[in-house]
Amino acid sequence: MPSYKKSTTQEKLLTENEEPESEVLNFEKPDFEFIPKGNHEFRQQGFYLICNSCELQHAVWIGPKKIMVGLDKDGRPILKDRIEVFGRQA
Ligand SMILES: [Zn+2]
Repeated sequence: MPSYKKSTTQEKLLTENEEPESEVLNFEKPDFEFIPKGNHEFRQQGFYLICNSCELQHAVWIGPKKIMVGLDKDGRPILKDRIEVFGRQA
């Protein structure tokens, strides 16, 4: 199998293809994206949504500018801007 030249090219391609995967992690995405799927009973507590229905309590940071106004039909929290709800910055 005199294909050592070809395999060198393939190795290079593999290395190039691996690089974009390290950019998948993006912590700048909106917080809402981090709300886990499934059945959760979120309640807002300060700047967090706290889930008490899971065996392990967990929380999602929503920050000072968001407020939970309810749950949608899938049980996911509906977040709104505080300024939208109160008309001005609280
Ligand atoms: Zn939960």
